[in-house]
Amino acid sequence: MAAQKSTLLRNGLIVTMDNHERLLRGDILIENGVLTQLGQVDKKNATTIIDCSNLILLPGFIQTHTHLCQTLFRGQADDLQLLPWLQQKIWPMEASHDAETMRISARLGIAEMLKSGTTTIQDMGSTHHYDEIFEEARQTGIRINGGKCMMDFAETVPDYLLEDGKSSLQESERLIKTWHGTENNRLRYSMAPRFAVSCTTHLLAESAAMARQYGCNLHTHASENRDEIALIEKRENSRNIDFLHKYGFTGEDTTLVHCVWLNEHEKDTLHDTHTSVAHCPASNL
Ligand SMILES: [Zn+2]
Repeated sequence: MAAQKSTLLRNGLIVTMDNHERLLRGDILIENGVLTQLGQVDKKNATTIIDCSNLILLPGFIQTHTHLCQTLFRGQADDLQLLPWLQQKIWPMEASHDAETMRISARLGIAEMLKSGTTTIQDMGSTHHYDEIFEEARQTGIRINGGKCMMDFAETVPDYLLEDGKSSLQESERLIKTWHGTENNRLRYSMAPRFAVSCTTHLLAESAAMARQYGCNLHTHASENRDEIALIEKRENSRNIDFLHKYGFTGEDTTLVHCVWLNEHEKDTLHDTHTSVAHCPASNL
């Protein structure tokens, strides 16, 4: 039997985040990666004992929207509006990834987050190489809810990232069967059409259905930019959130990212359907 590894964090100020938001001074014992005791812990033979008298102990941070595939692109595409930012910079750079650069990008992004206390992320990939992201998450120990990005609308997506809708769904299903719920449920899949602009109604509807079939989350960008909203209004004769709602992208299992430009009706829809919103102020201010 493998030797038990234990770490005793001694005498820290513990931010419990319980229902009463209590702050306690005490110890935390971690055994084989699992937090097993909290309070006054008598474990003199712990493998590692850390004096936390001058430290604050708190649960890991949760980052609700990341793109591990873009870590290497920082500083390359600043000060552009959303659609030219994607078309001129981000999409060509995403398309240039191979499996090795994707792994490096993921490893660096995960290392930065773990170092700053983030232990759980919700991530959207590019159209390819999502196995590499999961493999890096598996090895580093971060908790991830992630999925490949999906894009099948030919008029708005460049050829080098354009997918056939059926293939995109098949690849998503393969990734679900490979990774979803593995590592004691630390790795979970989420269906991630990039945004309404880049997807056919067929892809949106089928990806929502697939998420519910397998118990995955839904994760997409929405209403970040006025040009994006105008494009959907022209193409679909619908407000963006109404459009996403029609094709299944609302509910407790759904995260809509940005949601900067909503009208009151759209806000009510998100409220009434218990849809989560991930605001990203640094992207939009
Ligand atoms: Zn994003």
